[in-house]
Formats: sequence, structure tokens, C-alpha cells
Amino acid sequence: MIGIGEIGLDYYYDNSDRDIQRKWFREQIRLAKELDLPYGVHDRDAHEDVLRIMKEEHYDGAGGILHCYSGSVELSREFIRLGFYISLGGPVTFKNARVPKLVAGEVPFDKLLIETDSPYLTPEPYRGKRNEPKYVKYVAEEIAKIRNVSIDELAEKTKENFKRLFRL
Ligand SMILES: [Zn+2]
Repeated sequence: MIGIGEIGLDYYYDNSDRDIQRKWFREQIRLAKELDLPYGVHDRDAHEDVLRIMKEEHYDGAGGILHCYSGSVELSREFIRLGFYISLGGPVTFKNARVPKLVAGEVPFDKLLIETDSPYLTPEPYRGKRNEPKYVKYVAEEIAKIRNVSIDELAEKTKENFKRLFRL
């Protein structure tokens, strides 16, 4: 086992009572701390509570990932300050995705990760279809274009980041 997750809050689907979500998010962060493992955070429409709980439960240690990050540039800096990595998925390729594209350009290179979230969040040009892990290349292409680096450099950097985070 290399990490705990994904854990977090989902106020979009609201499938469980928010108090219960918050209680277990806290408990799972404490488990990550006890085991000294990084944790992966799911945050959908719950930015404020996710950041607040992460700050309240913060410890200097393993850090983790904000997976399929959907917040602002300012918020990403708060998570990075806590020792977290910002992971971007398919939405960064959407034409109208102004904020994710800004984030893709602003996150320090040593704090950036990419992901698929397949079968969800399918990138362009397959938006609307079932996502596949191999489509992560479209996420990489878009971010490489935004940052004006080669796709190989982006792949190398994000791989290094992944290994550092999970101590591989
Ligand atoms: Zn998730």
C-alpha cells in the first residue's frame, strides 16, 4: 500500500449526509497520518470544507494529491502550501475550461500530476464517450502546449513527481 484514498467530500452528488462525509474525511486523514502515507483527495463542490479540514488535520508528513483538481489558482497555492500535488484530468482539454487551463499553466512544475479518472471525465477529442487510461495522453498534450514544453518533458516531470510523492 502506497497511499490512502481517494478520500474527501462530494457535495455535488450529495449521496451521504455532509456531517458524516466530514467526519470520515477527518478520520481517514488521521489514518494516513498514523500510517505515514500520502492521501488522495476527492473534492467536488466542497473546496471550502476540504481545505478547512485539511488545515485543521494538517501534519508535516507525507502530503498527497488533489485529484481531478477543479479549483482556482489561488486555492491550488493553499493546497501546495500544505505539501500537496495538483493533479489534472480530462477537463483541462475542454474548450471552455478557462480555470483548469490557468491552473495548468501556474502550478509549479514539481507539484503537477496528470491522471485519467477513467471511465469518467473523458478528454477531448473523445468527450462524452467512455474514458480510457490511454487518453491521458490528451491531457498531457494540452498541458504541454499551455506550458510550452515538449510532451516528453511533461511526462518525465510528472513521473518524477509521482515517484517522489509515493516514495517509489
Ligand atoms: Zn474522485
